[in-house]
Amino acid sequence: MKEKTPHIAIIGAGLAGSVLSNRLTEAGFLVSIYDKSRGTGGRLSSARLNDTSADLGAPFFDIADPEFQTWLATQPTARLWQPKHISFSNKALTKPSVYVIEPRQSALTRALMEGSSFISQCRVGYIWPEKKDGEEQIILRDEQGKGLGSFDAAIVATPAPQAAPLLEAVPRFAKRASEIEPTINWVAVLQTNAHTSTAELITGEHPVFSRCIKDSAKPGRSGSDRSEVWFIEANTSWSTANKDRDSEAVFDCLKSSLFDLLNIDAEVISYRCHRWLYSRNASIDEGFLWDAAQRLGAAGDWLQGEGSSGAWRSANLLADQLIKDLQ
Ligand SMILES: Cc1cc2nc3c(=O)[nH]c(=O)nc-3n(C[C@H](O)[C@H](O)[C@H](O)COP(=O)(O)OP(=O)(O)OC[C@H]3O[C@@H](n4cnc5c(N)ncnc54)[C@H](O)[C@@H]3O)c2cc1C
Repeated sequence: MKEKTPHIAIIGAGLAGSVLSNRLTEAGFLVSIYDKSRGTGGRLSSARLNDTSADLGAPFFDIADPEFQTWLATQPTARLWQPKHISFSNKALTKPSVYVIEPRQSALTRALMEGSSFISQCRVGYIWPEKKDGEEQIILRDEQGKGLGSFDAAIVATPAPQAAPLLEAVPRFAKRASEIEPTINWVAVLQTNAHTSTAELITGEHPVFSRCIKDSAKPGRSGSDRSEVWFIEANTSWSTANKDRDSEAVFDCLKSSLFDLLNIDAEVISYRCHRWLYSRNASIDEGFLWDAAQRLGAAGDWLQGEGSSGAWRSANLLADQLIKDLQ
């Protein structure tokens, strides 16, 4: 280890930022994580609903990537779940094996960030390399221009469109990020007084939905026994066509389609409807971005593989590189 402990700024407390933080704090680095949101998780965040909560982002982790699966199995709050699965045309399908985090998906990111400083509700607006006391440093400012400090390296772990302006100190990185076009997805989570028994995961062809998931059937979910919580995800073409509608109108449409599908007429106790502007994206499969001279890098699902396992892989690959270069 160099004489001075390296201090790394990470922008984004999603899966990539939190995995990177975990690896770097374990290697003895100081880590400060900035996020514009109140909580951690990014696209693994959850929404409060009356006396319970529901996953509003990625509802579970599929385990197609064996190394990601092995890692998940070691996480103390990860639970294997095999939801009862049917198609939108009511055909029984094989139960998939997926992982969920107890009591909510975002708890994984919070646990991984132990040992780092978390600065919430802080939107980073500017990152630039600077010489300070004869040493190369990188400085951060928030969107109002207020200084946030100087660091030995800054890592942008946000969706690509939000990363592009933060990577301008290395124009080729900013260009790579600006070329990514994420998909849009409307998602609603709702707590109802319904009691359905048919399915916990519904997938297939549907004019509105990509999938519907009974969130309250996941292992370790708390809340009233008298209610059911559903996660409903509109498909990309419907979401794109309805991108500019207000969230109440979108919710009414998603709720009616769900009630028709389940053949119920229930009371909605509580709900949240959210438009994910940067839901998912193809990846450029470069693993990560890192410029050792400018001390600026990036990790996330747009850099390696796709989805959660891509974010996890990208963060691990960048952690290996930073530990090699800065320790
Ligand atoms: C509805 C939905 C369903 C999904 N389903 C699946 C699935 O089934 N399987 C799967 O593998 N993947 C799924 N995904 C994708 C998966 O959630 C993401 O790939 C993964 O969580 C990305 O993690 P990340 O850390 O790269 O980015 P994010 O989770 O987006 O984290 C980035 C963080 O950066 C913060 N941020 C952005 N800009 C700034 C700024 N300027 N200053 C400070 N903070 C900033 C954001 O607030 C956010 O917290 C789904 C995503 C959504 C939205």
